[in-house]
Amino acid sequence: GFKMGIVGLPNVGKSTLFNALTKTAAAQAANFPFCTIEPNVGDVAVPDARLQKLADIAGSREVIPTRMSFVDIAGLVRGASKGEGLGNQFLANIREVDAIAHVLRCFEDDDVTHVEGRIDPAADAETIETELMIADMDSIERRLANLSRKLRGGDKEAVEQDALLRRALVALEAGKPARTVEISAEETRNWRMLQLLTAKPVLFVCNVEESSAGTGNSLSAKVAAMAEAQGAAHVVISARIEEEISQLDADEAAMFLSEMGLEEAGLDRLIRAGYQLLGLQTYFTVGPKEARAWTIPVGTLAPQAAGVIHGDFERGFIRAETVGYDDYITHAGEAGAKDAGKFRVEGKSYEVRDGDVLHFLFNA
Ligand code: GDP
Repeated sequence: GFKMGIVGLPNVGKSTLFNALTKTAAAQAANFPFCTIEPNVGDVAVPDARLQKLADIAGSREVIPTRMSFVDIAGLVRGASKGEGLGNQFLANIREVDAIAHVLRCFEDDDVTHVEGRIDPAADAETIETELMIADMDSIERRLANLSRKLRGGDKEAVEQDALLRRALVALEAGKPARTVEISAEETRNWRMLQLLTAKPVLFVCNVEESSAGTGNSLSAKVAAMAEAQGAAHVVISARIEEEISQLDADEAAMFLSEMGLEEAGLDRLIRAGYQLLGLQTYFTVGPKEARAWTIPVGTLAPQAAGVIHGDFERGFIRAETVGYDDYITHAGEAGAKDAGKFRVEGKSYEVRDGDVLHFLFNA
């Protein structure tokens, strides 16, 4: 599955947010067997209103959302790259995630100490980014030294790795994260294998006080500007509110949200933003037994999409019977879509689209 790491300085609201994410009724929807894997890893449902609509049309007995994981990565402080705090452990945890949710304190509260003694989310972001950049530079220097022997042997992969590492180093030495390096499609695989911390996509999460949950505040506006300048995404939430909502059942939560003048829970926006950041999309399988959502990277072909359900589906793939989401809704299901000529039979080279309702045929 896909994993997002929650990072940030101490006392910015990471645990509050993580607890809300993993305790909320929506996150635990569907009697899915693995809810919390480890204390700091939460497996959450990806909210998608389309799924229930499909289930209603098909009369599905069960609704099973797709899921993604969040990892609470505590322990980053100034100096972590040099082993301060939980330093190395922290960095190892970040290496394993696909993307980073960077929580920034955008609330004033004299009762909650700030480790740096002032409220300045842009400066906080820089503190953390600097630690990650130093860690990347250290690891690049180490790896370049290790590669030099292989280079003399003319190892092709070593040559490629060496070139990519040097490009990353140029960016980092200019004070820019590795994600600013332009990577071609052919280089993507090797680039990912380098697992540089600052190459991972980042979503800035502005944690604002309760009263600003819907609007944001002047601090979150600064983060928004910073994010835009870096080509990064951001969301505004109040971790406190999310924590309260997570204790409520679905009806109570809806009432609470409308009383607060909010359209949807911040967590839903956060999860969706993470999904988008990771370049993921959803397809559906729908029948009388269950309506289910599945996650695939954008650009996935039909056989690999089938493989998410079961390896045999991919190996024995014959074809995918396909109805687009809008067609399914407009024509009230598969039969109606068929009558309207919206039922397609797609082969091995079909690139699955977001919202496709699929039925795979395969050789067992
Ligand atoms: P972490 O160290 O980043 O995991 O931070 P915590 O989630 O433990 O939060 C640190 C403190 O800040 C706790 O006392 C929280 O209750 C408080 N806190 C978190 N979010 C908010 C918020 O939005 N407003 C206020 N006033 N306090 C918050």
